[in-house]
Amino acid sequence: MADKPKFKFETEEDKKAFWHSTSHVLADAVKRLWPDVKLGIGPAIDSGFYYDFDKKEPFTQEDLRKIEAEMKKIIKENLEFKQVLLSRDEAKKLLKNEPYKLDLLKEIPEEKVSFYQHGKFIDLCKGPVIKSTGQIGAVRLLSIASAYWRGDPKQPMLQRIYGISFPTEKELADYLKKREEAEKRDHSKLGPQLELFQIFPESIGSGLPIFLPKGAILRRIIEDFWKVEHEKRGYQFLYTMHIGRKSLWIRSGHWAMYKDSMYPPVKIDEEEYLLKPMNCPFHIHAFLSKPRSYRELPIKYCELATVYRYEASGALHGLTRVRGFTQDDGHIFCSPDQIKNVLAETIDFNLYMLKAFGFKDEEIKARLSLRDPKSEKYLGDAKIWETAESALREILKEKGMKYHEGIGEAAFYGPKIDFLIEDVLGREWQCGTAQLDFNLPEKFNLTYKGADNAEHRIVMIHRAFLGSIERFMGLLIEKYGGAFPIWLAPVQVKILSFTDRNIPYAKKVEQQLREAGIRVESNYDPETVEYKVRQAEIEKAPYIVVCGDKEEKANTLAVRPRGQKPKFGVKIEDFIEQIKEEIAERK
Ligand SMILES: [Zn+2]
Ligand SMILES: [Zn+2]
Repeated sequence: MADKPKFKFETEEDKKAFWHSTSHVLADAVKRLWPDVKLGIGPAIDSGFYYDFDKKEPFTQEDLRKIEAEMKKIIKENLEFKQVLLSRDEAKKLLKNEPYKLDLLKEIPEEKVSFYQHGKFIDLCKGPVIKSTGQIGAVRLLSIASAYWRGDPKQPMLQRIYGISFPTEKELADYLKKREEAEKRDHSKLGPQLELFQIFPESIGSGLPIFLPKGAILRRIIEDFWKVEHEKRGYQFLYTMHIGRKSLWIRSGHWAMYKDSMYPPVKIDEEEYLLKPMNCPFHIHAFLSKPRSYRELPIKYCELATVYRYEASGALHGLTRVRGFTQDDGHIFCSPDQIKNVLAETIDFNLYMLKAFGFKDEEIKARLSLRDPKSEKYLGDAKIWETAESALREILKEKGMKYHEGIGEAAFYGPKIDFLIEDVLGREWQCGTAQLDFNLPEKFNLTYKGADNAEHRIVMIHRAFLGSIERFMGLLIEKYGGAFPIWLAPVQVKILSFTDRNIPYAKKVEQQLREAGIRVESNYDPETVEYKVRQAEIEKAPYIVVCGDKEEKANTLAVRPRGQKPKFGVKIEDFIEQIKEEIAERK
């Protein structure tokens, strides 16, 4: 038996290794129970892991419990994970009954092929894994889904088992509780249910959501607010195209560094073009459109721009993991001595935006990515790095914000700050970001004429506040469980008629509210009012208004604020006034 040091989730890598190792145990358990099953792949995912199996009969819920019991045995055996390096021929021989693994083997270029073994089970694997199966304190298999081998519909359909594991039972219990809560708030379910967005994997494609009318309203409110606030702060708006010449992306360096996330080129007139994964080179060209003087700095461009990045089909989820998304992008061009002020303004603005949508200080995490002072890989003037890094620290300290300092986490071209928000499952999503860039100004020769009449190198800052509109909407749906504050709610007031008699009065009220700029929806169906109220509650409008005989006679309303008891005899004018106030205060 191996010794089993306690395992702790300290970094994302720890978690991934832990979950990936548990997927080995899952595969082992399945093979022990059904030796003929063929193995696909078993990666760690955002939370937990899965393994794909080729098995004729479908797995049942009962099977899951059986597999779980088998996994617990393997865990109890506390088998050590050992790396085994085999030659290509040895590997082929070992995998001769595993067609999917042989398929994977073809793509491994190394002469020595890496496997990991625990007990008798051995799997094609480059690691990292944990020390021994005994470190897995608690495991639960969660669900079964089907998935094509390699996500390719022309390939066989496999069965995918999802699971989660933790070093301790307590962590698992906490997770399962959170998950139950999360399922109620899961935006990928609430979105279609509340008619906000929908994904049509079979006809449109996976990871390509479309916004339905109500989601489009929510999106428009977010975008309008975003635009107004940017205009107030001196941003200039740009519109750019979705594709650009491949040579542009080669020059910017995106092709070399980012190729795996980009879609294959399209050919137009013998020239290759690429769908944009980022907007930077376009905004740079706006800057380059005329000579620049220090007097006009900083120049601040912004654009709500849709970009396209490859995500593996297994990683796609609702609006948070998609294949095309709209960045609330912006680029600031400034002189080195403006860095501190520009960063302070940008961070202020970013926090203002997140808080406007209801995120509280304690829900926003800040993370700095800084230089490793011992390394020499960094581009740009060391003094400017120093200025920027200490500015970032100072600003966060002045704000009294807790932040994580990632020494050595900076990209070679500049330090950055990220603001992260947790979703209901405790996964962190990057929303705001401000990234200094000393690289692209070199590559595109970006300069301005200084007060000394000489040309100077510009400093460029990439920034986004919400990250992606789609993802941010996903986070908003989960934050509010679909019950949006009134300024964001696609339907602010739902009007119901008590009986058919009251429909003309209800219609009059509806018209009055609409004319006051309030978003109204009505239900005049010949159902009981109790039924209609229940329906309206599921739709989560902030106010339900019922128009019956009493209301009609007194020219008033029965108003039911979301989650509260109804108030009777409310004057229409007062109601309109109250709603308008609440909207103005972004309640
Ligand atoms: Zn592995
Ligand atoms: Zn950029």
